Amino acid sequence: MKPSDTAYWIRNTHIFQRDEYVCSNCGARFVRPSKFCKECGCRMTGTKSDVGWVDEMEAFDAIFDD
Ligand SMILES: [Zn+2]
Repeated sequence: MKPSDTAYWIRNTHIFQRDEYVCSNCGARFVRPSKFCKECGCRMTGTKSDVGWVDEMEAFDAIFDD
């Protein structure tokens, strides 16, 4: 694990299930995105989905509150 490595989330949207976030580096899947991949430790630079890049980083703190 190199803390300086960066990656991004690939968002898989599901109609009947919660969205899934896949680490672009190691392929680990999470229900919630975070600033660092809990699996490989990469720093996440953003989220990519079918509609393109989405800036969700500012929303992460709010997500963690619940
Ligand atoms: Zn990862």
